[in-house]
Amino acid sequence: MTASTDKPDSPSPKTLFQKIIDRELPGSFVYEDEQCVVIKDINPGAPLHLLVIPRKPIPRLSDATPEDQALLGHLLLVASQVAREAGCGEAFRVAINNGAGAGQSVFHLHLHVLAGRPLKWPPG
Ligand code: AMP
Repeated sequence: MTASTDKPDSPSPKTLFQKIIDRELPGSFVYEDEQCVVIKDINPGAPLHLLVIPRKPIPRLSDATPEDQALLGHLLLVASQVAREAGCGEAFRVAINNGAGAGQSVFHLHLHVLAGRPLKWPPG
């Protein structure tokens, strides 16, 4: 049996997103800096669907600590920047799924940036 790399208690040191960040797996990069990368979601839920991923492999938002405060703020600013640069700065959604029960499937913190269609509230 192959161990998943994307469970919170995985013995593997690398998540799927870490492998993309390290260029061990392909990713469609639209932005990167010293703290994070932004890639296109492989299964987009909207015309614009980007993932803002910190280089630091925090499994879930709920695993972040006060030492991550500046990083978390940076991720939000990058989310806004890439939405604006994609021409969607006036109407976009930023979402974080925290835990399997909330739909998280990759246990490396990431912000979804969705735009380009009407976005209803609340999400399903
Ligand atoms: P979540 O369900 O919140 O953990 O989000 C994980 C997201 O990663 C989903 O929207 C997937 O479509 C996306 N995803 C999974 N594999 C890849 C990949 N190889 N490249 C880009 N996005 C991916």
